[in-house]
Amino acid sequence: MSYRSIAIDGPSGAGKSTLAKRLAQELGFLYVDTGAIYRTVGLAVRRRGVAPSDAAGVEAILPDLVITMAYEEDGLQHMYLGGEDVTEAIRENEISACASKAAALPVVRDFLMEMQRRAACEHDVIMDGRDIGTVVLPQADLKIFLTAAPEARAQRRYQELLGRGQQADFDQVLQEVIERDRRDMEREAAPLRQAADAVLADTTGLDLEGSFQLLLGLSRDRLGIKEGME
Ligand code: C5P
Repeated sequence: MSYRSIAIDGPSGAGKSTLAKRLAQELGFLYVDTGAIYRTVGLAVRRRGVAPSDAAGVEAILPDLVITMAYEEDGLQHMYLGGEDVTEAIRENEISACASKAAALPVVRDFLMEMQRRAACEHDVIMDGRDIGTVVLPQADLKIFLTAAPEARAQRRYQELLGRGQQADFDQVLQEVIERDRRDMEREAAPLRQAADAVLADTTGLDLEGSFQLLLGLSRDRLGIKEGME
């Protein structure tokens, strides 16, 4: 049996995970958040006191890392590092930059490739990240490049941090968003870019519901899923 896949790529804060999660629920697909996998490596690197851009240092710790993911009763993708549930810990603000620096290393990308592809061999998936349509699942049934203006994305991220009770400064969040975009787009290994056959979805002027309806419509059209069939 072959499984269906939807790849959603785009910069941070475009709404990928919120929309992909809801779309997966609606269509009965498994949602795979690949950013969480990179964040788990970022956390491990930080805990070991290795600089995330130190290729040799990071490479040296990879063989010891046991990274697993599991879908718990709450329906969420939980990440485990050596058996410890780090689902919350990987969301800390400083882990974002660590993950994005480590993600620029080809050795890290190779290390995580198998885990991502395996999920798509075992389930219908909606997978989000930066290189899903271009590298991880080039045969995906539908590819969406989801984006929004940096200010709109920073605003969402800022609200998310406040909502989680973390301290945040909007200008700093905006600078971090711009810096992370630059790093993700300019790196040599699997840079963030729109696949030639991806549909561009810009959510700058759309609220969550409008963005969701846009993606749901695209998915139903491409996968031939009629309303009420999922
Ligand atoms: O999506 P999220 O912001 O949680 O991802 C954290 C970081 O992991 C990103 O900034 C990006 O550098 C990296 N990443 C990646 N490739 C993916 C998913 C995430 O390089 N497929």
